[in-house]
Amino acid sequence: MTEWLDVRFDHIRRAADIISQGGIVAFGTETVYGLGGLARSRSAISRIYSAKGRPSFNPLISHFASAEDAFREADLACPLGTTARDLAARFWPGPLTLILPRHPESRICDSVSAALPTLALRVPRGRAVQELLRLVNAPVAAPSANRSGRVSPSCAAHVREELEGRIDAILDTGPCIVGLESTVLDLSGEKPRLLRPGGLTRDALETLIGPIEQVAPLAPDDHSPLSPGQLSSHYAPTLPLRLEAERPDNHEAWLGFGPSEFTLSDRPSWNLSLTADLGEAAARLYAGLRYLDEEGLKKGCTSIAVQHLPTEGLGDAIMDRLKRAAAPRPLLRE
Ligand code: AMP
Ligand code: MG
Repeated sequence: MTEWLDVRFDHIRRAADIISQGGIVAFGTETVYGLGGLARSRSAISRIYSAKGRPSFNPLISHFASAEDAFREADLACPLGTTARDLAARFWPGPLTLILPRHPESRICDSVSAALPTLALRVPRGRAVQELLRLVNAPVAAPSANRSGRVSPSCAAHVREELEGRIDAILDTGPCIVGLESTVLDLSGEKPRLLRPGGLTRDALETLIGPIEQVAPLAPDDHSPLSPGQLSSHYAPTLPLRLEAERPDNHEAWLGFGPSEFTLSDRPSWNLSLTADLGEAAARLYAGLRYLDEEGLKKGCTSIAVQHLPTEGLGDAIMDRLKRAAAPRPLLRE
């Protein structure tokens, strides 16, 4: 049975107790809902992988209440250790994940890092998640709280649809404010590399640390451990997507952006932001994809047509998710 916990202090404590005892709990962060368990517990981590159906080669992000806690797990004597500290001081708590060499004494399970010599570390923003992490007072590994390959959850109801009965509790902390996963930045080598665009823009990062190399998404069947979450098909609804559409054809649902030129009476449509605000579009993206998929299937739509979106700022991460959702589907995803 999955306990439903609305966000009250005693419920945050209950969620923390479940995690501390080795259970797995979904909770909201500013990015998307995560499915958290103790990063030092092999059994909790194995339950996370199996509840999601996540392939074991795709490692998890560990979450902490503070940068100080996070950096205890990392080897900051690495060439980009100072860069890591500068980024954390500026952007944590926030939607940024840093990949760093693992500290030799870190007790985070190998299965969290899929046996890589690095760890993914993040300090999320949000009062409830901060309180939860403080109460647990140990690293919490938390991938997005969706079935592997599906669209990430941006509210607690999305988690319930996919994981009810498979996890111990859902802490309903309300809709996620950013609505896109964190930006993943690899600092384990000589130069910073962007592994995944996300809720913190590349511009914001480059203003602080200079030019960043972007790693291209992997082919769908490439299981290279270098940047495992970079598979090109990911975040996919059931219906196929058609990008850069000018208008929907007769059998398509419609995902629009900006002032609307037409309405559809017989098919579902969703506008990401009538005022063409990319922050609003990011926050509404996953709810829109879920809505269009569900209603489109009911109404016999064959695909979802997606209007053009700009690629500057958060548009980069939004287009990354839309392109992955539109990519050919391999058998194994995420
Ligand atoms: P999710 O938690 O579902 O948003 O996915 C976490 C992302 O972080 C995935 O793209 C992972 O492949 C990536 N990730 C986690 N740990 C590492 C690591 N040690 N090295 C590279 N990428 C990582
Ligand atoms: Mg995910």
